[in-house]
Amino acid sequence: MKLFEQMASHGHERVAFHQDPATGLKAIIAIHSTVLGNALGGTRRWAYATESDAVHDVLRLSEGMTYKAAAADLAMGGAKSVIILPKAGHQPTEAEARAMGRFVDTFAGKYIAAEDVGVSPQFCDWMATETKHVMGGNTVSHGGDPSPFTSQGCFNSMKACLQHLGMPVQFKNLKVAIQGAGATGYKLAKLLREAGAVVYVTDVHVPTLKRAVEDLGCVEIGNDKNLFHEEVDIIAPCALGGVLDEKTIAGLKCKIVCGTANNQLAVPDRDGPSLKQKGVLYAPDFVANAGGLIRLAGLYLGLTEAEIDRKVAAIEHTTLAVLKEGENAPSMAAAAVAYAKRRIAAGAKRHPVGAGR
Ligand code: NAD
Repeated sequence: MKLFEQMASHGHERVAFHQDPATGLKAIIAIHSTVLGNALGGTRRWAYATESDAVHDVLRLSEGMTYKAAAADLAMGGAKSVIILPKAGHQPTEAEARAMGRFVDTFAGKYIAAEDVGVSPQFCDWMATETKHVMGGNTVSHGGDPSPFTSQGCFNSMKACLQHLGMPVQFKNLKVAIQGAGATGYKLAKLLREAGAVVYVTDVHVPTLKRAVEDLGCVEIGNDKNLFHEEVDIIAPCALGGVLDEKTIAGLKCKIVCGTANNQLAVPDRDGPSLKQKGVLYAPDFVANAGGLIRLAGLYLGLTEAEIDRKVAAIEHTTLAVLKEGENAPSMAAAAVAYAKRRIAAGAKRHPVGAGR
């Protein structure tokens, strides 16, 4: 792997590797950009097939965080970290989290850690016993679980999609299929049900699926294969990345794709344009799912609850603006990246590097 070439081509500022013999921790922190400010991004615990996969993931995710923060108009850069697990299902421990916290601390605040896949508010609090540069815990650090804000932001983004298509901005009797009824999917389903939508759900974890069916009156649909062929108004990927590929896009019968999952397009340069050609409106993921980042970054930056709520509400306006620009772009995803890059360039002009920031 040509790491420096990859960093240079995507503009990453810094990538650091760390191993801790006492706990066996193996972790990577990637800072993509600090042009707009210090960089907040979750810590992902995952059993990667190879170390190259871990590097690829942390580079891709950290770049996405830069665009997410910029599009959400936050004075924040983009970063991410990954912990390479020895095997799938490896249980988190306080010792592991504290070792990660010490690694995070070496960045002296340029990098701020938070939750991601495999990391809970408890894990954040354990990390925070070693560094003050962590968000998302409930005791030692603060912010807690950001998923309610992510779901609310995605719901707001769906409203923009309806408006863009000239449909009434209301959910009564609209059919929405959600992949994954976990932290964000469940809360999104709740908002949609309260607004009168018919909500279909899939989840590979049966108790999670049952909870959405029993608590919210969602309709269970067999599996993911059925999900992408379902005749619904909106499909909301709220589980995994890479779910929109040649195969799933070919079978889509929905009008809109708008969900909370990160990196929904398997190959953005190929799958973004194919969605457009197929006439399916795609709400770019990092615009639609920015609510959780807005919450944690907002608290970190000292915004009030009301200011945070206003920024989450503004996801509707941002989505609408990006979709409008996307009419003249190769894809909605490309329009979103261009939108974010413009904000970064404007921020760089206001605060040139070396100008005392
Ligand atoms: P979660 O782990 O709570 O929920 C994901 C759910 O998806 C789980 O219930 C899991 O069983 C299910 N799932 C996994 N594979 C599936 C499959 N093939 N088909 C159907 N269901 C499947 O995670 P979450 O916090 O809801 O996050 C979901 C996605 O949203 C992730 O991509 C995450 O990176 C992204 N995201 C989350 C937040 C947040 O605030 N939590 C913010 C931004 C982005």
